[in-house]
Amino acid sequence: MREIDGASDGSRPPVAERVVDLRLATAYGDFLAVGYRDGNGTDEQMALVYGDVTGEGALVRLHSECLTGDSFGSRHCDCGGQLSAGLSAIVREGRGVLVYLRGHEGRGIGLLAKLQAMKLQAEGLDTVEANLALGLPADARDYQVAAEILHDLGVRSVRLMSNNPLKREALQRHGVKVTEEVPLLITPQEENIFYLRTKRERLGHHLPHLEDAESGAETGAETGGGTGSADGTEPPR
Ligand SMILES: [Zn+2]
Repeated sequence: MREIDGASDGSRPPVAERVVDLRLATAYGDFLAVGYRDGNGTDEQMALVYGDVTGEGALVRLHSECLTGDSFGSRHCDCGGQLSAGLSAIVREGRGVLVYLRGHEGRGIGLLAKLQAMKLQAEGLDTVEANLALGLPADARDYQVAAEILHDLGVRSVRLMSNNPLKREALQRHGVKVTEEVPLLITPQEENIFYLRTKRERLGHHLPHLEDAESGAETGAETGGGTGSADGTEPPR
């Protein structure tokens, strides 16, 4: 475990403790899966590492856990598509890391509260209003453990696959340099266009492709920044 530049004041131990690593063959490619104990809480975290990611400029996705989107293919959100497109882009690039952040359900409010918030959204609230109506924060996610995992993996600077400017700021606050933000744009579905508009308008996400969708133009899932196009729907999971 490395000391974190600019993040550790020396008064508390690091939160990410590497426990195990192993080869993991997936539908996307063969990764090194690295498991961490998260000293911040009860969560166990995992990173999928592809190729040599030490040094500068690794392509990185910090993926917030979403059981409904990631595992069940829910169309309520774009999480499943982002997970798939992120892993595909990393493999295509030849090197990169996906940090799968458990404890981030519903932007950090937990699975059951997220399901309650989704029910409120079906009744007309937007995703921000729904969290607030439950007496919970609009976004309670913390990225300290993600930063520590990247440091542990020897990643010095990242090209961050995200549409969320807060993720970049959070990583930099925890001592990880972000040299570029690589868009991860998933084709909107009828069921999630309102959710995506809310993310753009109330949470500041960069989602320029929604304008194309709103004007009826053909859109496709893509990542920018020189990684080529990513089809968020394949390979099958
Ligand atoms: Zn989701």
